[in-house]
Amino acid sequence: MGSCVLRRVNHWRTTMVHFDMLCDECRSRFTPDPMRYGCDCGSALDFAAPAPPIAVEELASRPANMWRYHEALRIARPEDAVTMGEGMTPLIRADRSDHDLRLKLDFTFPTGSYKDRGAAVLISALREMGADAVVEDSSGNAGAAIAAYAARAGMRCVIYTPSGTSPAKLDQIRVFGAELRLVEGDRQATTEAVLEAAETTPYASHNWTPYFITGVKTVAFEIAEQLGWRAPDNVVAPAGFGSILLGLHLGFSELRRHGITDTTPRLLAAQAERCCPIHVAWRAGADVVDRFVDPRPTLAEGIASTRPIRARQVLDAIRHTEGAVATVTEDEIADGVRALAREGIYVEPTSAVVVSAFDRLVEQGVIRDGDLTVSILTGSGLKASGKVPA
Ligand SMILES: [Zn+2]
Repeated sequence: MGSCVLRRVNHWRTTMVHFDMLCDECRSRFTPDPMRYGCDCGSALDFAAPAPPIAVEELASRPANMWRYHEALRIARPEDAVTMGEGMTPLIRADRSDHDLRLKLDFTFPTGSYKDRGAAVLISALREMGADAVVEDSSGNAGAAIAAYAARAGMRCVIYTPSGTSPAKLDQIRVFGAELRLVEGDRQATTEAVLEAAETTPYASHNWTPYFITGVKTVAFEIAEQLGWRAPDNVVAPAGFGSILLGLHLGFSELRRHGITDTTPRLLAAQAERCCPIHVAWRAGADVVDRFVDPRPTLAEGIASTRPIRARQVLDAIRHTEGAVATVTEDEIADGVRALAREGIYVEPTSAVVVSAFDRLVEQGVIRDGDLTVSILTGSGLKASGKVPA
């Protein structure tokens, strides 16, 4: 073996140590393995070691996409990442509020949702580990994102989704060449159906593996950079499984730990009143999130999760940042779509929960005069055409 190759292998081995995963519950530790998505005890995994800092001083010379932060993305060879140049989505001022409200346009990703942040990093990591096929379960957007990046990576892909998913999302998954398995029942039934497939094929789960949240944390890096390396006072985001809240918490915590920003924002979660397990647990002061007992169909299909896998971490993130949870009604969700449309912004109902949630949190005094608040707009309106009357 030539010394150059040897050096590269040693570098890879040294780097991979940073990718060891740790169970928060039972403290089991695992080396990276494409078949390993969770702990044997049933808990999700996180990386054992903190991520290295982003290279702030080098950003000026790098492309305006999320890979400018590659040092923190747990990918050994970022030059080989599976990417479409995604990220650095616009952060604009909202017209409709007297408050300083900014909108992060994360529906402008290649597949029309913020899930591309996680999919780009997760599929890059799985390919780096040698995977040539993936399975995934999704209410639609994560499935479309995984299907897109799997197509780009040349991987075989099977996506499980609830049978009631919006036709536009199903078409998108099919056109990317993924095999689609429709599951009767609620979102939880879909999650349970994929686990059998995950015994023989790598499970590209946006809820289990820490790679997905690692990609999503770039939304925090972008917001801070776009604000001149400052964290906002509040961030409002839709919460289903809570991956965007976990990504925000991870990203802003890393920026503060590395002395890049001075503060972290309060995390304000928005849920549909018809399916709001995190709200129930948060209001009760509970440590665990119980399965939501009586979910009803909601326009916000992307966050209709009755039992989020990382729910305790989501609650911890909200409490740790002195955040809050707000719920919105179906009428308010539809009003939210129309309110944003009046500013020229077309999002899907799942994204529009942040509009009425923001108003409610202002009424409740959670969002205060003089605060700088960022609302994350997560998915394109084209994903759910026909769902909201004009
Ligand atoms: Zn464990």
